[in-house]
Amino acid sequence: MFKNEVDDYCSVPNPDVLGISNKLKPVFQPLVYWPDKKLSQQCENVSEFNETLEQFVFDLAYSMVERSGIGIAAPQVGKLLNVIIVEQQLDYSHPIVLINPKIVDTDESFMYTMREGCLSVPGYYEDRKRPQKVVVEYYTPHDIQIEKEFQGLGAFVLQHEMDHLQGKVFVDNLSKFKQQRVLNKVKKTRRIGR
Ligand SMILES: [Zn+2]
Repeated sequence: MFKNEVDDYCSVPNPDVLGISNKLKPVFQPLVYWPDKKLSQQCENVSEFNETLEQFVFDLAYSMVERSGIGIAAPQVGKLLNVIIVEQQLDYSHPIVLINPKIVDTDESFMYTMREGCLSVPGYYEDRKRPQKVVVEYYTPHDIQIEKEFQGLGAFVLQHEMDHLQGKVFVDNLSKFKQQRVLNKVKKTRRIGR
């Protein structure tokens, strides 16, 4: 997911907020663009909570914020791991790192509509309804289990990113004709370097 307007903001996420060591330096990662096959594969659980994971989390968060993203999933930088980052505020100050996330409760009687977009599908947006509240169980980069309720924007972004972990992209269900138009938009947007 990403934010449309670009504001002034610090593009290096705060390691304390991410829950990782503040001795690391983030490395900008190239993005995987739809319809790359890496975006249609099931991701695997993280089993080792170590410095390699913390470095990956930092790289992922940096690569998201640099591109004005408000959410990103590991397969978007080519790693098939169950790791996502969800921003709950449009000021990029509250990124939450979720390792091995699992939705444990959702309420489909209240839906939230948002213009959905994706860093891996630049230039294309569509309105979409998703449950406005979800409860998710996940681990922090330090292997602490958390259960948290997300609402509104945060819940929307969370569900979009969790779809990536199952190899689903929000344009998968469009007709072949519409997908071709999306593909043209992606190519055009990438050419002009946005
Ligand atoms: Zn996405």
